[in-house]
Amino acid sequence: MNDILRRLGIEDVNPGAWAGKAISGDTGEVVTSYSPGNGEALASVRLAGVDQYNQVVEAATEAFERWRRLPAPKRGEIVRQIGDAMREHKDDLGALVTLEVGKILSEGLGEVQESIDMADLAVGMSRQLYGLSMHSERPGHRMYEQWHPLGVVGCITAFNFPNAVWAWNALVALVSGDAVIWKPSLKAPLIAIATHRLCDKVLAEHGFSGLLGLVIGGDADVGETMIADQRLPLISATGSTRMGKRVNQVVAGRLGRCLLELGGNNAIIVEPDADLDLALRGVAFGAVGTAGQRCTSTRRLFVHKSIATEFTDRLVAAYKQVPIGDPMDSGTLMGPLIDADAVAMYTQGLKDIQAEGGEILCGGTVIDRPGSYVTPTVVRGRPDMAIVQHELFVPILYVFEYEDIEDAIRWQNDVPQGLSSAIFTDSFRKAERFLAHHGSDCGIANVNIGTSGAEIGGAFGGEKETGGGREAGSDSWKAYMRRQTCTLNWSTELPLAQGVKFDI
Ligand code: NAD
Repeated sequence: MNDILRRLGIEDVNPGAWAGKAISGDTGEVVTSYSPGNGEALASVRLAGVDQYNQVVEAATEAFERWRRLPAPKRGEIVRQIGDAMREHKDDLGALVTLEVGKILSEGLGEVQESIDMADLAVGMSRQLYGLSMHSERPGHRMYEQWHPLGVVGCITAFNFPNAVWAWNALVALVSGDAVIWKPSLKAPLIAIATHRLCDKVLAEHGFSGLLGLVIGGDADVGETMIADQRLPLISATGSTRMGKRVNQVVAGRLGRCLLELGGNNAIIVEPDADLDLALRGVAFGAVGTAGQRCTSTRRLFVHKSIATEFTDRLVAAYKQVPIGDPMDSGTLMGPLIDADAVAMYTQGLKDIQAEGGEILCGGTVIDRPGSYVTPTVVRGRPDMAIVQHELFVPILYVFEYEDIEDAIRWQNDVPQGLSSAIFTDSFRKAERFLAHHGSDCGIANVNIGTSGAEIGGAFGGEKETGGGREAGSDSWKAYMRRQTCTLNWSTELPLAQGVKFDI
């Protein structure tokens, strides 16, 4: 067994349900996690079923009743220690991200750093869970609002950010006073186990083992039970739009709350006055980074006609030089796709693109070596191609030409998703036009920065089919708490609002 796995406490065959300690029992099904970098088996997990899920929820509910009583800054202090535990194990956790999902090592480490940063941010938040106060229309009355913990929160995560997406949710939920049950992707169960064990160890030192629960189970049994579960007032779900629509439907059916972070279809506009060296780097990182498997990956590029040939040629030349290979190798810039299904999505996507008249300018091949490797691809296309409306979660970039910036903005908005967007320009007017209310319709709009690599200080998320949720910084903590409006009467009268009289 790999040393990294051993140091993180991963066994050959792991239980799928954890509430601090492993919960016994399983469904009889086992999933094996394979490294996409070389196709080798890392370790297996015995899938948890609904019985184990229920035990995890019970443990979290019991711990929540005590955790909510702890003052928020004291909760923050424990989250600070969770951040320190991740700091101490950053190298191993980051390497495990790379081993299990195939992103290059600097991105694997960067993902864990993002979780550490989230812990720091959440510590600060724990002293800033502010409510507003209002002037009452009635004399001798005081009105204000306060925020209370919500309860046991369900957290569903995607394979591509197997550590940080959990941290965006769980660490903010913890300082908010909640418990969190995590259902990770079956494509990245080992990182979830390692993260859970590290964080629970810190919680156990303070008597709160089980406050964070982990259930690795199937979508049809554990997933469906979780989203229908009345005991969970909030389901935060990150993944495809298809999954989000299902989660939203079920949670709405019980009038629960959803926080959805779903698919993107992100675009960059390059104006003729842009710093083209900067734009080239921004586009390349956005489209090729993480092998095009970020929700914020650049999928569409709008280049002004006057620079289209020059810019596209430079881009194609840069693509041909991208070192593709073992993600653990420091020289590699693009690792593998997550699995064979993703490779099939890539090849089918290219067929569909060509059937609609798209022209492959570079890439377009599957690399013959163990693992799931493809070449990053640039396609010359038309914005009205039907396939452009869909998020292909692979490194395929469409290039379109435009003459009028108004067309570029309209086309960039003309997809069902609304996550991230960017313009490269040195013109103040063009930048402001892009950021105006009738400019980009996305949750994230950047100038002279690509579409991916958001900082945690901002609220992260997108509009339309991206789901409308916001996580991480700013005031996103409000999603994990319930608001209470309080009116106190310190007068000797009982005046009614709106002048209503009711004297008895
Ligand atoms: P996916 O939708 O296949 O799976 C995501 C998670 O949903 C997994 O844990 C899966 O087990 C779970 N799930 C699926 N059906 C469920 C059900 N019926 N009930 C409960 N849980 C269910 O997505 P993926 O392939 O893991 O990730 C890639 C997708 O995630 C892309 O679309 C990407 O854009 C998106 N993503 C979005 C963000 C964001 O913040 N907007 C971040 C990361 C990834």
